[in-house]
Amino acid sequence: MTYSWATSTHPGLVRDSNEDSVLPDSDGRDGGPVLVAVADGMGGHAAGEVASRLAIEAVANSEAPLEERIAQANQAVMEASERRPDQQGMGTTLTVGDFRPDGTLLVGHVGDSRLYLFRGENLLQVTRDHSLVAEYVASGALSPEEAATHPQRNVITRALGIDWEIDVDSHTVNLRIGDRVLVCSDGLTNMVADADIARILSEQPAAQAAGWALIEAANQAGGEDNITVAIVDVVE
Ligand code: MN
Repeated sequence: MTYSWATSTHPGLVRDSNEDSVLPDSDGRDGGPVLVAVADGMGGHAAGEVASRLAIEAVANSEAPLEERIAQANQAVMEASERRPDQQGMGTTLTVGDFRPDGTLLVGHVGDSRLYLFRGENLLQVTRDHSLVAEYVASGALSPEEAATHPQRNVITRALGIDWEIDVDSHTVNLRIGDRVLVCSDGLTNMVADADIARILSEQPAAQAAGWALIEAANQAGGEDNITVAIVDVVE
C-alpha cells in the first residue's frame, strides 16, 4: 500500500501554549508505511508540552510492537515526572496508528484523542474515548448530544503518566484504496461535530488542505483548545 499523509497542529485561539504533539513532523506523498501519533498533554508549568513530546518521541524511537511502545511512552513520562518535581502530575493522551505495508492499520490508544476511518462518505470513530462522558454514554446515562456539551467532557479516565501500569485499547483495520484516516486531539472534536468533519474530509481531496480546513473550522467555532490533526490517505 502507498500512503499520503499530512499533520498540523495549532494552539487554538484561547490557550497561550500548545501542549499537543504529533508524529510525523513532515508531510509525505505517495510514501510507504508510516507511523502516526497524536498526544494531548496536561499539567501545569508547561509540563503538558513535555509529557506529550516525551510520549511521541518514545513511540517514534522504539521498534517494539505497538502496545509495548505505548507502555514505553508511559514509562518515559512517569520517569520524567519522578525526576522533576515541577513536572509532577503531568500526563498525556496517546493515540497511535501504524500503517503497515500490507494495508493493515494497527491502532493503540489511551485517552480521548481519536482515530476515525473515513470510507466512502461515512465517518466511523474507531477509538472509544477513555472519558467520563463516554462512560456515561455507554451506560445510557447521557445521549451523545448531551455528552458533546457536558461541562465534564474534558475529564479523561485513562492517560499516560498516571500509573506505571497502563491499559491500552487496540484495534486492527484492514484498509482499502481511497480510505482516509483522521487522528486528532479533542481540540477538534469538542469544537466541530462529526457531520462537519465528514463534510470537510469529503470536500478537500488533498490531505494537507483537509487538515488546515479542519483546524480552521475548530478556530471558527471558538478554538478553545489546542487542535491537532493527522490525515493519512490510502493511495494505492
Ligand atoms: Mn486537548
